[in-house]
Amino acid sequence: MVTPIRKLFNQNFSREYMQVALLKNIVSSIAGQQATGIVDLLHDKKNVNEFLIAKKLKLTINQTRNILYKLADEGIVSFIRKKDKKKGGWYTYFWTLNVGKGLIKFREHLAKKLESLTEKLNLKKTERFYYCPSCNSESNEEVALLYQYTCPECGEVLQLKEKGKEIEQLEKEIAKINEILASLEQEIGIVTRKEQVVKVRKIKAEAKKKSKERAAKKRARELEFKKLKAKKNRKKNKNRKNRNKKKRKKRLSKFGRNLRKLFR
Ligand SMILES: [Zn+2]
Repeated sequence: MVTPIRKLFNQNFSREYMQVALLKNIVSSIAGQQATGIVDLLHDKKNVNEFLIAKKLKLTINQTRNILYKLADEGIVSFIRKKDKKKGGWYTYFWTLNVGKGLIKFREHLAKKLESLTEKLNLKKTERFYYCPSCNSESNEEVALLYQYTCPECGEVLQLKEKGKEIEQLEKEIAKINEILASLEQEIGIVTRKEQVVKVRKIKAEAKKKSKERAAKKRARELEFKKLKAKKNRKKNKNRKNRNKKKRKKRLSKFGRNLRKLFR
């Protein structure tokens, strides 16, 4: 049987195509074959309207949301939502594919598969298995011994199973998965580095924006302070002026009185 994974690596795909294929693989295992179209729709895009996704997938909006929620639970997609005034104030969701998370999820999935295959291989290598030549049922040593090496269904004498081919098959499968894991590892490295750069850039931009806002606030505060100070100074000057006026008036009237005294 040619599995999609094997097909993937038997051919010489471009990196981009490989990434899409890897993501489709994990999306399919989480949300079913009909969900794989989402990868094509969201790959290399950002904040895609869910109604557009539903239309392109030829699914209802509820079916589409169910798929997207399943993927979001695994971190493979994320959303932002906006209130839509035209749709009676309901939220419309806009979806983005998280390539890094998707690939990491796929790696987990493959690692599990590798573990179970390895277990199976070890069992095949260490234990003996028997089969019935007429009904083709298989049993391990323990069960075979229990039925004294005869088939519990038809009574035929059980035969020792030749495991060479099965072991070979398992070893091939394991090698293939290891091969995929190696290129997946590489791909994850590239993608996460890229995502890290974007993240750092975002954080820097955010910090710049905040410091700008802080500076603007500081300027506004300083301006306010200056205004207040100016107001205070004006008041002070006014008071001083008034005081001086009064003093002058006093002086003038004193002078007048003296003058009048002189001419009296
Ligand atoms: Zn039998």
